Amino acid sequence: MRTIANYIDGRQAPPAGGEYLDKPEPATGGPLARVPASGAADVAAAVAAARAAFDPWSHTPAAERSRLLLAIAAGIDARSDELARLESEDTGKPLTLARTLDIPRAAANFRFFATAILHGATESHPTDHQALNYTLRRPRGVAGLISPWNLPLYLLSWKIAPAIATGNTAVAKPSELTPSTAHALGEICSEVGLPPGVLNLVHGLGAQAGAALVDHPDVRTISFTGGTVTGAAIAKAAAPKFKKLTLELGGKNPTVVFGDANLDRDLPAIVRSAFANQGEICLCGSRILVEASIYHSFLDRFAGAVSRLAIGDPLEPGTEFGALISEGHRAKVLGYLDLAREEGGRVVLGGGPVPPERLPPRCRSGYFVAPSIVTGLSMGCRTNQEEIFGPVVTVTPFHTEAEAVAMANDSNYGLAASLWTENLTRAHRVAEQVQCGTIWVNCWLLRDLRVPFGGMRQSGVGREGGDEAIRFFTEPKNVCIKL
Ligand code: NAD
Repeated sequence: MRTIANYIDGRQAPPAGGEYLDKPEPATGGPLARVPASGAADVAAAVAAARAAFDPWSHTPAAERSRLLLAIAAGIDARSDELARLESEDTGKPLTLARTLDIPRAAANFRFFATAILHGATESHPTDHQALNYTLRRPRGVAGLISPWNLPLYLLSWKIAPAIATGNTAVAKPSELTPSTAHALGEICSEVGLPPGVLNLVHGLGAQAGAALVDHPDVRTISFTGGTVTGAAIAKAAAPKFKKLTLELGGKNPTVVFGDANLDRDLPAIVRSAFANQGEICLCGSRILVEASIYHSFLDRFAGAVSRLAIGDPLEPGTEFGALISEGHRAKVLGYLDLAREEGGRVVLGGGPVPPERLPPRCRSGYFVAPSIVTGLSMGCRTNQEEIFGPVVTVTPFHTEAEAVAMANDSNYGLAASLWTENLTRAHRVAEQVQCGTIWVNCWLLRDLRVPFGGMRQSGVGREGGDEAIRFFTEPKNVCIKL
């Protein structure tokens, strides 16, 4: 069992109170790690270190900050096998997914912002012949960065990289369920010579370490990714203190399959959009809307492809579908399958835990739920309205384009949608009407790090990515010169 440490002022540090949380391995249910149960004292120490580091770091030339971030990216690459294994063990996700998605993307996040800061420009606004305005952008100070468990290093680095690239210092709180790659990132930062205090990592429960970070008066910028209920609590705590906030929250994303979709080409991508990472990606499509003319044939082909997913030990290279993050989350997902039945849904595939005999002996006490497909439910029912965040999708027919748009928009969330059609005019028309922050057409999770990323309505406030992130982590100042 490994013991995780906080990373404060460039050093690994045990929690001030000496208390730890036990973190099991999702694939086995056995013990995996001891995680610091940090509290306000640890957060205060981390914020003090970040505050002290801010002045020199914010005056460090962009080229030097860039060099250090590129060195962190190289450090991630150099340890990618080890990091992928840590991520797989912590989350239950297939090692292959961690190797091909999570870890390369974490390195890409650092590379992207390391080079972005070398190419920025700010605005100028000449006022007739009277004055010249120009905009200065300065880092805001200590940023508080809070991230979830589903894409641990991927999402944590998506916040850390723009925050420190732009000259802020940071205190990051990873999910208490997935501390290991964050711990390794602290080691990498020390190895490459990132000045102490520029990045600090505090592990612990949201209600303790997370809330203390949000509450700290010296943390004036907060970037949060996680559940909508948590986002609301953070917004409530931060609002009276006028903190700058971005909230990346939950989703209940529609996947709209038109009759002319090229399923020979795209069925694997549609399966992936539903069940990648066991459905534990905020962007996964959980409401699959299918044009009535192809509904039955689509359902047959889709269920056939899903039934062939290789479920098993996440550490085995051939495994495509692993375990859920925790016992509690498994219970929540199974509860939603019960609810789907109560609401009149027909389970056409899965519908419960993976039978232990289908798993290797090591994994028989792990938190596995079979990929599940439910039909026969209306859009208004709870199964179709609430975020399950697991391997459960509904498949529902629609008859007209207008009906598809109405069904896609029948949600309090608005994170992402995918459209599958060969009709480009229709793709543009529907993309324009569907109320989500990202619309993919004939693809899913195809990411360009320059584009604005975020959600509408209950899926969040603000955008990450590219210039949006650079703007978020900097304070604009207008200078007006009279001519
Ligand atoms: P969560 O909200 O329970 O926790 C997220 C983080 O917030 C964790 O680090 C947690 O410790 C911390 N936290 C909890 N309570 C807190 C509080 N009161 N104050 C401060 N911090 C607190 O979410 P989760 O279960 O870890 O992640 C799953 C959720 O994240 C899903 O809803 C999913 O859709 C969402 N998510 C969204 C995106 C996105 O980009 N929109 C990406 C990934 C995950």
